[in-house]
Amino acid sequence: METTIKKLNKCRLCKSNNYNVLFIKYGYELAKCNECSLTFLNFDPDDEFFSNYYAEDFFNDPGIKHAYSDYEKEAESLKNSFKFRVDILSKYNSGGNLLDVGCATGAFMEVASSRWEVYGVDVSEYAVEQAKKKNLKAFAGVIKDSPYINQIFDVVTLWDTIEHVSDPLETLQQLSEMTKQGSVVALTTGDVGSTVAKISGKYWHLYNIPQHLSYFDKNTITRIFNESGFEVVEIIYPSIQLSLDYLLFRLVTFYKIKYAFSFYKLLKKTGILKPNLNINLYDIMLVVAKKV
Ligand SMILES: [Zn+2]
Repeated sequence: METTIKKLNKCRLCKSNNYNVLFIKYGYELAKCNECSLTFLNFDPDDEFFSNYYAEDFFNDPGIKHAYSDYEKEAESLKNSFKFRVDILSKYNSGGNLLDVGCATGAFMEVASSRWEVYGVDVSEYAVEQAKKKNLKAFAGVIKDSPYINQIFDVVTLWDTIEHVSDPLETLQQLSEMTKQGSVVALTTGDVGSTVAKISGKYWHLYNIPQHLSYFDKNTITRIFNESGFEVVEIIYPSIQLSLDYLLFRLVTFYKIKYAFSFYKLLKKTGILKPNLNINLYDIMLVVAKKV
């Protein structure tokens, strides 16, 4: 566990030190910038945080990181959502090469490879190893150290990734240099301006602390794209297909309800958690942007 939390003490987007602390959770300050209105975690993680946090137990969670209980199984339900995303991207681009940033174990890459030549990058060595076992081309580490840094891509995807990176503006600016006019960058991330986020307050299910470092809304995500040389062409709120298993796992680990984890494990054994659910709380944005 963290002994000391290294604070960022400035906005993660505009670097202003004019911000308010909204609340403190697990010892971390959740802050909102008064200049650009980005909500961010006042935390400056080091490289070690990224390599340690996204190790195997992030994808096969014993119940401590409230991430995934079994990512590979969940990836099967995710694939239906990924097919929908391929259809959306196909409206803007019909082929070429695609880079999936934060590719995890390669579930989206597998689906997208029907249409594009796909490459992936992820900070998790464990996840990239799994992707490679599926004969996918993936690199473990950050974009700037990858062999893709000097390539030009037609499509770049960042599914549930931008909120995890320590400098999201730098990430998009990097991608701007790795794309050409008309290239498409698409991402999903929580919408901190959504009704569900506002009603839930500090209990919003996407306040995943300390993994989620930035919390965007329509305005801040548009701003960060514009500042990186992209124009937002579409924002939608897609439904996500999840297994009942994953949903319950997230609930009991996120809210740390006493005895609930043992109850969850008991239910899991019975096999009744297998069905998939289509969920839409309208608090996850899918944003498509074009390089101008
Ligand atoms: Zn700011």
